[in-house]
Amino acid sequence: MLLICTSVTPISTPEELPVSSPEPSLSSLDTSSSQPRFACHYPQCGSTFNRRADRDRHARVHDGVREYVCPKTNCLKEFYRKDKLQGHLENGH
Ligand SMILES: [Zn+2]
Ligand SMILES: [Zn+2]
Repeated sequence: MLLICTSVTPISTPEELPVSSPEPSLSSLDTSSSQPRFACHYPQCGSTFNRRADRDRHARVHDGVREYVCPKTNCLKEFYRKDKLQGHLENGH
């Protein structure tokens, strides 16, 4: 599998490294972009995603109104029902 990308930001010192590498690198994921393309619609959420599918999948957590949130700061799990939260508090902490 050969990918040709013409929009790669040029390396400042290209002569120090071989221009082409035949081995695909798992560390070559483009994380340099500081502008995530897809942000969660909920301003209080603040989650951003590089792929729309990821955003849409995440958005499902907001579909149901989870008004019962674990008060533990390090937990913050959300539940649809109060009894679920109570069960979590009794058994999960
Ligand atoms: Zn969100
Ligand atoms: Zn909890």
